[in-house]
Amino acid sequence: MERHEHLSHHADMLSVEEALERVLATVQVLEPEERPLLGALGQVLAEDVVAEFDIPSLANSAMDGYALQHTSIRGASPQTPRVVKIISEIWAGQLPTREVTPGTAAHIMTGAPIPKGADTVVPFELTDERERRAAGKPVAEVSVYRELPLGSHVRPAGEDVARGQVVLHRGSVLRPAELGVLASLGHLRVKVIRRPEVAIIATGNELLAPGQPLEQGKIYDSNSYAIATAVLRYGGIPHLLGIARDEMEELRRKLEAGIHADLLVTSAGVSTGESDLVRRALEERGKVEFWSVRMRPAKPIAFGLLQGPGGRVVPHLGLPGNPVSALVAFEELGRPALLKMQGRTRLAKPTIRAVLEGTIVNRDHRRVYARVVVTQRDGKYYACPTGPQGSNLLTSMALANGLAICPENVPAKHAGDEVEVRMLDWNEETL
Ligand code: AMP
Ligand code: MG
Repeated sequence: MERHEHLSHHADMLSVEEALERVLATVQVLEPEERPLLGALGQVLAEDVVAEFDIPSLANSAMDGYALQHTSIRGASPQTPRVVKIISEIWAGQLPTREVTPGTAAHIMTGAPIPKGADTVVPFELTDERERRAAGKPVAEVSVYRELPLGSHVRPAGEDVARGQVVLHRGSVLRPAELGVLASLGHLRVKVIRRPEVAIIATGNELLAPGQPLEQGKIYDSNSYAIATAVLRYGGIPHLLGIARDEMEELRRKLEAGIHADLLVTSAGVSTGESDLVRRALEERGKVEFWSVRMRPAKPIAFGLLQGPGGRVVPHLGLPGNPVSALVAFEELGRPALLKMQGRTRLAKPTIRAVLEGTIVNRDHRRVYARVVVTQRDGKYYACPTGPQGSNLLTSMALANGLAICPENVPAKHAGDEVEVRMLDWNEETL
Protein backbone atom coordinates (compact mmCIF):
# COMPACT_ATOMS: atom_id res chain seq x y z
CA MET A 1 0.00 0.00 0.00
CA GLU A 2 2.68 2.46 1.03
CA ARG A 3 4.78 1.41 -1.86
CA HIS A 4 1.91 2.03 -4.26
CA GLU A 5 1.28 5.49 -2.90
CA HIS A 6 4.90 6.27 -3.26
CA LEU A 7 4.88 5.31 -6.94
CA SER A 8 1.72 7.16 -7.86
CA HIS A 9 3.05 10.22 -6.09
CA HIS A 10 6.17 10.18 -8.25
CA ALA A 11 4.18 9.73 -11.43
CA ASP A 12 2.87 13.29 -10.94
CA MET A 13 6.29 14.75 -10.48
CA LEU A 14 8.23 16.33 -13.29
CA SER A 15 11.90 15.64 -13.76
CA VAL A 16 14.14 18.71 -13.84
CA GLU A 17 14.59 18.14 -17.59
CA GLU A 18 10.85 17.93 -18.23
CA ALA A 19 10.29 21.14 -16.27
CA LEU A 20 13.08 22.90 -18.14
CA GLU A 21 11.78 21.67 -21.48
CA ARG A 22 8.34 23.12 -20.74
CA VAL A 23 9.82 26.44 -19.66
CA LEU A 24 12.06 26.69 -22.72
CA ALA A 25 9.23 25.71 -25.07
CA THR A 26 7.24 28.65 -23.72
CA VAL A 27 9.74 31.52 -23.67
CA GLN A 28 10.68 33.16 -26.96
CA VAL A 29 13.76 34.94 -28.21
CA LEU A 30 13.18 38.71 -27.88
CA GLU A 31 13.41 41.32 -30.64
CA PRO A 32 16.58 43.06 -31.73
CA GLU A 33 17.50 46.57 -30.62
CA GLU A 34 20.31 48.95 -31.42
CA ARG A 35 22.79 49.53 -28.64
CA PRO A 36 25.93 51.65 -28.28
CA LEU A 37 29.03 49.42 -28.21
CA LEU A 38 29.70 50.20 -24.55
CA GLY A 39 26.23 49.02 -23.58
CA ALA A 40 26.24 45.77 -25.56
CA LEU A 41 28.70 43.60 -23.64
CA GLY A 42 27.35 40.06 -23.30
CA GLN A 43 24.45 40.60 -25.68
CA VAL A 44 23.89 38.46 -28.75
CA LEU A 45 24.52 39.88 -32.22
CA ALA A 46 21.24 40.03 -34.17
CA GLU A 47 22.71 40.26 -37.69
CA ASP A 48 25.81 39.31 -39.64
CA VAL A 49 28.39 42.08 -39.76
CA VAL A 50 30.01 42.55 -43.18
CA ALA A 51 33.25 44.51 -43.63
CA GLU A 52 32.91 47.53 -45.91
CA PHE A 53 36.68 47.90 -46.27
CA ASP A 54 39.92 46.00 -45.78
CA ILE A 55 41.70 45.99 -42.44
CA PRO A 56 44.39 47.12 -42.67
CA SER A 57 43.19 49.30 -45.51
CA LEU A 58 46.74 49.79 -46.83
CA ALA A 59 49.83 47.58 -46.66
CA ASN A 60 51.84 48.86 -43.69
CA SER A 61 54.98 48.28 -41.71
CA ALA A 62 55.12 45.84 -38.78
CA MET A 63 58.38 47.42 -37.49
CA ASP A 64 60.22 50.71 -37.14
CA GLY A 65 62.86 50.57 -39.89
CA TYR A 66 63.42 51.05 -43.60
CA ALA A 67 61.00 50.33 -46.43
CA LEU A 68 62.91 49.41 -49.58
CA GLN A 69 63.09 47.12 -52.58
CA HIS A 70 64.32 43.63 -51.87
CA THR A 71 66.82 43.92 -54.74
CA SER A 72 68.57 46.69 -52.80
CA ILE A 73 69.60 44.32 -49.98
CA ARG A 74 70.33 41.18 -51.96
CA GLY A 75 73.53 39.58 -50.59
CA ALA A 76 73.71 41.94 -47.58
CA SER A 77 75.77 40.61 -44.66
CA PRO A 78 77.98 42.09 -41.89
CA GLN A 79 80.93 41.69 -44.26
CA THR A 80 79.08 42.96 -47.34
CA PRO A 81 76.60 45.60 -46.14
CA ARG A 82 74.31 47.23 -48.69
CA VAL A 83 74.02 50.99 -48.45
CA VAL A 84 70.68 52.67 -49.16
CA LYS A 85 69.90 56.38 -49.40
CA ILE A 86 67.09 57.68 -47.18
CA ILE A 87 64.61 59.65 -49.28
CA SER A 88 61.70 60.18 -46.89
CA GLU A 89 60.24 59.60 -43.46
CA ILE A 90 56.76 58.10 -43.02
CA TRP A 91 54.90 58.20 -39.69
CA ALA A 92 51.79 56.23 -38.79
CA GLY A 93 48.76 58.09 -40.08
CA GLN A 94 50.69 59.76 -42.93
CA LEU A 95 50.43 58.86 -46.58
CA PRO A 96 53.76 58.29 -48.42
CA THR A 97 54.47 60.75 -51.23
CA ARG A 98 57.77 59.56 -52.74
CA GLU A 99 58.28 56.32 -54.59
CA VAL A 100 61.13 54.06 -53.44
CA THR A 101 63.58 53.07 -56.19
CA PRO A 102 66.53 50.62 -56.18
CA GLY A 103 69.19 51.82 -53.73
CA THR A 104 66.80 54.10 -51.81
CA ALA A 105 64.65 53.59 -48.71
CA ALA A 106 62.00 55.37 -46.65
CA HIS A 107 62.44 55.62 -42.90
CA ILE A 108 59.14 54.11 -41.73
CA MET A 109 57.34 53.70 -38.39
CA THR A 110 55.20 50.77 -37.22
CA GLY A 111 51.74 51.01 -38.78
CA ALA A 112 52.77 53.55 -41.43
CA PRO A 113 51.77 52.75 -45.03
CA ILE A 114 54.36 51.11 -47.28
CA PRO A 115 55.40 53.56 -50.02
CA LYS A 116 55.10 52.78 -53.71
CA GLY A 117 58.03 50.76 -54.98
CA ALA A 118 58.89 49.19 -51.60
CA ASP A 119 58.24 45.50 -50.90
CA THR A 120 60.28 44.79 -47.75
CA VAL A 121 60.95 46.44 -44.37
CA VAL A 122 64.33 46.17 -42.65
CA PRO A 123 64.08 46.82 -38.90
CA PHE A 124 66.46 49.58 -37.83
CA GLU A 125 68.34 47.11 -35.56
CA LEU A 126 69.68 45.37 -38.70
CA THR A 127 71.27 48.60 -39.91
CA ASP A 128 73.94 50.99 -38.59
CA GLU A 129 71.34 53.67 -37.89
CA ARG A 130 72.21 53.77 -34.18
CA GLU A 131 75.95 54.20 -34.79
CA ARG A 132 75.35 56.95 -37.32
CA ARG A 133 73.06 58.79 -34.91
CA ALA A 134 75.59 58.35 -32.09
CA ALA A 135 78.15 60.09 -34.31
CA GLY A 136 75.82 63.10 -34.32
CA LYS A 137 75.52 63.24 -38.12
CA PRO A 138 72.19 63.44 -39.96
CA VAL A 139 71.30 60.02 -41.26
CA ALA A 140 71.25 60.45 -45.03
CA GLU A 141 71.99 56.80 -45.73
CA VAL A 142 72.24 53.50 -43.78
CA SER A 143 74.11 50.24 -44.19
CA VAL A 144 71.96 47.11 -44.11
CA TYR A 145 73.69 44.05 -42.62
CA ARG A 146 71.34 41.26 -43.53
CA GLU A 147 69.31 40.08 -46.51
CA LEU A 148 65.80 39.47 -45.26
CA PRO A 149 63.29 37.43 -47.25
CA LEU A 150 61.19 39.39 -49.74
CA GLY A 151 58.12 40.88 -48.04
CA SER A 152 59.55 40.80 -44.52
CA HIS A 153 57.70 42.96 -41.95
CA VAL A 154 55.12 44.11 -44.47
CA ARG A 155 51.53 43.62 -43.34
CA PRO A 156 49.43 43.22 -46.46
CA ALA A 157 46.18 45.13 -46.93
CA GLY A 158 43.18 43.02 -45.84
CA GLU A 159 45.38 40.73 -43.72
CA ASP A 160 42.93 40.84 -40.78
CA VAL A 161 39.65 41.55 -42.54
CA ALA A 162 38.81 41.50 -46.25
CA ARG A 163 36.19 43.84 -47.66
CA GLY A 164 32.88 41.99 -48.19
CA GLN A 165 33.72 39.32 -45.63
CA VAL A 166 31.26 38.37 -42.86
CA VAL A 167 33.43 39.30 -39.89
CA LEU A 168 31.00 38.52 -37.08
CA HIS A 169 28.13 36.11 -37.33
CA ARG A 170 24.60 36.61 -36.07
CA GLY A 171 24.21 34.73 -32.79
CA SER A 172 27.71 35.56 -31.50
CA VAL A 173 27.96 36.66 -27.89
CA LEU A 174 29.64 40.06 -27.79
CA ARG A 175 32.81 39.99 -25.72
CA PRO A 176 35.52 42.67 -25.61
CA ALA A 177 37.18 41.16 -28.71
CA GLU A 178 33.97 41.27 -30.78
CA LEU A 179 33.22 44.80 -29.61
CA GLY A 180 36.77 45.77 -30.58
CA VAL A 181 36.22 44.29 -34.05
CA LEU A 182 33.03 46.34 -34.41
CA ALA A 183 34.94 49.49 -33.43
CA SER A 184 37.71 48.59 -35.93
CA LEU A 185 35.01 48.60 -38.62
CA GLY A 186 34.05 52.10 -37.56
CA HIS A 187 30.76 51.19 -35.89
CA LEU A 188 29.43 53.05 -32.87
CA ARG A 189 26.28 51.00 -32.49
CA VAL A 190 25.34 47.37 -32.91
CA LYS A 191 22.13 45.42 -33.47
CA VAL A 192 21.64 42.91 -30.66
CA ILE A 193 18.83 40.90 -29.09
CA ARG A 194 17.44 43.06 -26.32
CA ARG A 195 17.69 42.16 -22.66
CA PRO A 196 14.58 40.83 -20.90
CA GLU A 197 12.79 43.05 -18.41
CA VAL A 198 12.06 40.93 -15.36
CA ALA A 199 9.50 41.89 -12.72
CA ILE A 200 10.16 40.40 -9.28
CA ILE A 201 7.55 40.06 -6.55
CA ALA A 202 8.01 38.61 -3.08
CA THR A 203 4.94 37.26 -1.32
CA GLY A 204 4.30 36.61 2.36
CA ASN A 205 2.95 38.32 5.47
CA GLU A 206 6.17 37.62 7.34
CA LEU A 207 8.32 39.71 5.03
CA LEU A 208 9.90 43.06 5.76
CA ALA A 209 11.81 45.13 3.23
CA PRO A 210 15.51 45.51 4.10
CA GLY A 211 16.03 48.98 5.54
CA GLN A 212 12.88 48.79 7.67
CA PRO A 213 13.27 48.26 11.42
CA LEU A 214 13.24 44.58 12.35
CA GLU A 215 10.04 43.33 13.98
CA GLN A 216 9.65 40.22 16.11
CA GLY A 217 8.42 37.27 14.09
CA LYS A 218 9.23 38.86 10.76
CA ILE A 219 12.09 38.25 8.34
CA TYR A 220 13.69 40.42 5.75
CA ASP A 221 12.87 39.74 2.13
CA SER A 222 16.13 38.33 0.82
CA ASN A 223 14.65 36.57 -2.20
CA SER A 224 13.92 39.79 -4.07
CA TYR A 225 17.57 40.78 -3.89
CA ALA A 226 19.05 37.37 -4.61
CA ILE A 227 16.73 36.87 -7.57
CA ALA A 228 17.17 40.40 -8.90
CA THR A 229 20.94 40.10 -8.86
CA ALA A 230 20.77 36.65 -10.46
CA VAL A 231 18.67 38.27 -13.20
CA LEU A 232 21.34 40.95 -13.62
CA ARG A 233 24.11 38.38 -13.69
CA TYR A 234 22.38 36.51 -16.50
CA GLY A 235 21.75 39.58 -18.61
CA GLY A 236 18.22 40.58 -17.60
CA ILE A 237 16.98 43.92 -16.29
CA PRO A 238 15.36 43.39 -12.89
CA HIS A 239 12.46 45.45 -11.55
CA LEU A 240 11.85 45.00 -7.85
CA LEU A 241 8.13 45.34 -7.25
CA GLY A 242 8.46 44.71 -3.53
CA ILE A 243 6.43 42.59 -1.17
CA ALA A 244 2.83 41.48 -1.63
CA ARG A 245 1.17 40.45 1.59
CA ASP A 246 -0.96 37.32 1.41
CA GLU A 247 -4.05 39.32 0.46
CA MET A 248 -5.95 39.11 -2.79
CA GLU A 249 -6.01 42.86 -3.48
CA GLU A 250 -2.32 43.30 -2.90
CA LEU A 251 -1.41 40.28 -5.00
CA ARG A 252 -3.61 41.58 -7.81
CA ARG A 253 -2.01 45.01 -7.65
CA LYS A 254 1.53 43.62 -7.79
CA LEU A 255 0.72 41.27 -10.66
CA GLU A 256 -0.83 44.20 -12.51
CA ALA A 257 2.39 46.17 -12.03
CA GLY A 258 4.50 43.26 -13.27
CA ILE A 259 2.45 42.40 -16.32
CA HIS A 260 4.44 44.71 -18.64
CA ALA A 261 7.61 42.72 -18.13
CA ASP A 262 9.02 40.00 -20.38
CA LEU A 263 9.13 37.61 -17.45
CA LEU A 264 7.43 37.75 -14.08
CA VAL A 265 9.12 36.01 -11.16
CA THR A 266 7.39 35.54 -7.84
CA SER A 267 8.73 33.87 -4.74
CA ALA A 268 6.86 31.86 -2.10
CA GLY A 269 3.23 30.87 -1.87
CA VAL A 270 3.61 27.88 -4.19
CA SER A 271 3.78 25.08 -1.62
CA THR A 272 0.56 23.06 -1.29
CA GLY A 273 -0.54 24.30 2.11
CA GLU A 274 0.04 27.89 1.13
CA SER A 275 -0.66 28.29 -2.52
CA ASP A 276 -4.36 29.05 -2.45
CA LEU A 277 -4.19 32.84 -2.51
CA VAL A 278 -1.27 33.13 -4.86
CA ARG A 279 -2.82 30.45 -7.03
CA ARG A 280 -6.14 32.27 -7.20
CA ALA A 281 -4.50 35.61 -7.98
CA LEU A 282 -2.41 34.04 -10.75
CA GLU A 283 -5.31 32.09 -12.20
CA GLU A 284 -7.33 35.30 -12.55
CA ARG A 285 -4.57 36.48 -14.86
CA GLY A 286 -3.90 33.40 -16.91
CA LYS A 287 -3.00 29.76 -16.99
CA VAL A 288 -0.61 28.60 -14.30
CA GLU A 289 0.52 25.07 -13.52
CA PHE A 290 1.76 24.09 -10.10
CA TRP A 291 4.55 21.62 -10.49
CA SER A 292 6.15 19.18 -8.20
CA VAL A 293 9.67 18.94 -9.59
CA ARG A 294 11.80 15.94 -8.68
CA MET A 295 14.53 18.02 -7.09
CA ARG A 296 15.76 18.98 -3.62
CA PRO A 297 15.69 21.77 -2.73
CA ALA A 298 12.96 23.51 -4.72
CA LYS A 299 10.28 20.89 -5.24
CA PRO A 300 7.21 23.17 -5.54
CA ILE A 301 7.41 25.49 -8.52
CA ALA A 302 4.73 27.31 -10.47
CA PHE A 303 4.96 28.14 -14.14
CA GLY A 304 2.48 29.65 -16.50
CA LEU A 305 1.44 32.29 -18.94
CA LEU A 306 -0.32 35.42 -17.77
CA GLN A 307 -2.46 37.67 -19.92
CA GLY A 308 -0.69 40.97 -20.55
CA PRO A 309 -1.99 44.16 -22.17
CA GLY A 310 -2.85 43.99 -25.87
CA GLY A 311 -3.12 40.22 -25.96
CA ARG A 312 0.51 39.80 -24.98
CA VAL A 313 1.32 36.76 -22.84
CA VAL A 314 3.86 37.01 -20.08
CA PRO A 315 5.65 33.92 -18.79
CA HIS A 316 5.51 33.58 -15.02
CA LEU A 317 7.94 31.62 -12.88
CA GLY A 318 6.82 31.00 -9.30
CA LEU A 319 9.84 30.14 -7.19
CA PRO A 320 9.62 28.49 -3.77
CA GLY A 321 9.93 30.75 -0.74
CA ASN A 322 12.90 29.19 0.99
CA PRO A 323 15.90 31.24 -0.09
CA VAL A 324 18.11 28.33 -1.18
CA SER A 325 15.21 26.73 -3.04
CA ALA A 326 14.48 30.01 -4.79
CA LEU A 327 18.05 30.39 -5.99
CA VAL A 328 18.53 26.76 -7.02
CA ALA A 329 15.22 26.77 -8.91
CA PHE A 330 16.20 30.02 -10.58
CA GLU A 331 19.56 28.54 -11.50
CA GLU A 332 17.99 25.45 -13.09
CA LEU A 333 14.90 26.98 -14.73
CA GLY A 334 14.99 30.79 -14.67
CA ARG A 335 18.57 31.25 -15.82
CA PRO A 336 18.21 29.13 -19.00
CA ALA A 337 14.91 30.88 -19.80
CA LEU A 338 16.54 34.31 -19.50
CA LEU A 339 19.46 33.22 -21.66
CA LYS A 340 17.16 31.81 -24.34
CA MET A 341 15.22 35.09 -24.43
CA GLN A 342 18.50 36.86 -25.16
CA GLY A 343 19.26 34.63 -28.12
CA ARG A 344 21.86 32.58 -26.36
CA THR A 345 22.15 28.96 -27.45
CA ARG A 346 24.56 27.61 -24.84
CA LEU A 347 22.25 27.33 -21.87
CA ALA A 348 23.92 24.70 -19.70
CA LYS A 349 25.91 25.67 -16.65
CA PRO A 350 29.32 23.99 -16.89
CA THR A 351 29.39 20.73 -14.95
CA ILE A 352 32.58 19.07 -13.77
CA ARG A 353 33.35 15.73 -12.12
CA ALA A 354 34.75 15.96 -8.62
CA VAL A 355 35.63 13.67 -5.73
CA LEU A 356 33.10 14.14 -2.93
CA GLU A 357 34.57 14.94 0.51
CA GLY A 358 31.42 14.29 2.54
CA THR A 359 28.04 12.65 2.22
CA ILE A 360 24.91 13.57 0.28
CA VAL A 361 21.79 11.69 1.34
CA ASN A 362 18.85 11.22 -1.03
CA ARG A 363 15.78 10.27 0.97
CA ASP A 364 13.06 10.34 -1.65
CA HIS A 365 14.33 9.75 -5.17
CA ARG A 366 14.70 13.38 -6.07
CA ARG A 367 17.75 14.99 -7.65
CA VAL A 368 19.63 16.47 -4.71
CA TYR A 369 21.68 19.61 -5.19
CA ALA A 370 24.18 19.93 -2.35
CA ARG A 371 26.04 23.17 -1.77
CA VAL A 372 29.74 22.46 -2.01
CA VAL A 373 33.09 24.20 -2.07
CA VAL A 374 35.07 22.96 -5.06
CA THR A 375 38.84 23.04 -4.87
CA GLN A 376 41.50 21.79 -7.25
CA ARG A 377 44.49 19.79 -5.97
CA ASP A 378 47.04 17.94 -8.10
CA GLY A 379 44.90 18.32 -11.19
CA LYS A 380 41.79 16.86 -9.57
CA TYR A 381 38.60 18.53 -8.38
CA TYR A 382 37.26 17.95 -4.87
CA ALA A 383 33.81 18.94 -3.62
CA CYS A 384 33.30 19.52 0.09
CA PRO A 385 29.73 20.08 1.38
CA THR A 386 29.35 23.46 3.09
CA GLY A 387 27.61 21.96 6.15
CA PRO A 388 23.91 21.59 6.98
CA GLN A 389 21.85 21.62 3.80
CA GLY A 390 18.46 23.00 4.90
CA SER A 391 16.78 25.00 2.15
CA ASN A 392 16.32 27.85 4.62
CA LEU A 393 20.09 28.16 5.21
CA LEU A 394 20.99 30.89 2.78
CA THR A 395 24.53 31.20 4.10
CA SER A 396 25.17 27.65 2.83
CA MET A 397 24.65 29.07 -0.65
CA ALA A 398 26.90 32.02 0.10
CA LEU A 399 29.73 29.65 1.04
CA ALA A 400 29.34 27.47 -2.04
CA ASN A 401 30.88 27.74 -5.51
CA GLY A 402 29.14 24.64 -6.79
CA LEU A 403 26.07 22.43 -6.57
CA ALA A 404 27.00 18.74 -6.29
CA ILE A 405 24.38 16.39 -7.65
CA CYS A 406 23.13 13.15 -6.18
CA PRO A 407 20.99 11.64 -8.97
CA GLU A 408 17.36 10.62 -8.51
CA ASN A 409 18.03 6.88 -8.42
CA VAL A 410 21.03 7.01 -6.07
CA PRO A 411 20.23 6.76 -2.31
CA ALA A 412 23.48 8.45 -1.23
CA LYS A 413 26.86 9.67 -2.37
CA HIS A 414 29.72 9.06 0.02
CA ALA A 415 33.19 10.46 0.60
CA GLY A 416 35.45 9.35 -2.24
CA ASP A 417 32.57 8.93 -4.74
CA GLU A 418 32.66 10.84 -7.97
CA VAL A 419 29.92 13.48 -8.29
CA GLU A 420 28.84 15.94 -10.94
CA VAL A 421 29.05 19.55 -9.83
CA ARG A 422 27.39 22.57 -11.45
CA MET A 423 29.93 25.35 -11.26
CA LEU A 424 27.93 28.36 -10.10
CA ASP A 425 30.50 30.98 -11.05
CA TRP A 426 31.51 29.59 -14.44
CA ASN A 427 29.65 30.98 -17.39
CA GLU A 428 27.81 28.99 -20.01
CA GLU A 429 30.51 29.60 -22.63
CA THR A 430 33.08 27.70 -20.53
CA LEU A 431 34.16 24.49 -22.26
P1 AMP B 1 6.28 29.68 1.52
O1 AMP B 1 6.57 29.13 0.17
O2 AMP B 1 5.47 30.91 1.46
O3 AMP B 1 5.71 28.63 2.41
O4 AMP B 1 7.67 30.09 2.16
C1 AMP B 1 8.63 29.13 2.51
C2 AMP B 1 9.66 29.74 3.42
O5 AMP B 1 10.38 30.71 2.72
C3 AMP B 1 9.11 30.41 4.65
O6 AMP B 1 9.93 30.12 5.75
C4 AMP B 1 9.20 31.88 4.30
O7 AMP B 1 9.32 32.69 5.44
C5 AMP B 1 10.44 31.93 3.47
N1 AMP B 1 10.37 33.05 2.56
C6 AMP B 1 9.35 33.34 1.75
N2 AMP B 1 9.59 34.45 1.03
C7 AMP B 1 10.82 34.87 1.39
C8 AMP B 1 11.62 35.98 0.99
N3 AMP B 1 11.20 36.85 0.06
N4 AMP B 1 12.83 36.12 1.55
C9 AMP B 1 13.27 35.22 2.46
N5 AMP B 1 12.54 34.17 2.88
C10 AMP B 1 11.34 33.99 2.35
MG1 MG C 1 4.38 32.34 2.50
